[in-house]
Amino acid sequence: MALPLPTPNADSRPYWDAAQQGRLVVQHCAACGTVQAVPRGCCGNCQSPALEWRDSALRGTVASFSVVHRGPTAAFRNSTPYVLALIDVAGGVRLMLNIIGPGPDEVQIGEEVEITFEPRGEAGFQMPQARRITA
Ligand SMILES: [Zn+2]
Repeated sequence: MALPLPTPNADSRPYWDAAQQGRLVVQHCAACGTVQAVPRGCCGNCQSPALEWRDSALRGTVASFSVVHRGPTAAFRNSTPYVLALIDVAGGVRLMLNIIGPGPDEVQIGEEVEITFEPRGEAGFQMPQARRITA
């Protein structure tokens, strides 16, 4: 069973379109300067509709994480263990991403990661993920 794919909506489509090009974008509010990670039709701080998409850094640090050994569905159970993490992306947003790559039991809070894109599904949908930077 394949892992599920996101279903872009009018608010999130620019985010997913950018991901297909290997870019991470976030919304900036032109009225108050808030940067928001979850795509919305207006600013979560001042409710202004004056939002613009800007490219984000592709680096961040691990704020928190959990190693999942028992996935919520059959598709995820085939992928265990995997790391689900909150990543503080350089530039001011916190995203929930999987940390991919070797050493799921070695992830540490404060560890630096890079944002990368992992093809998923037959069409190769590009999913933003975090990857450990190992020396
Ligand atoms: Zn605002």
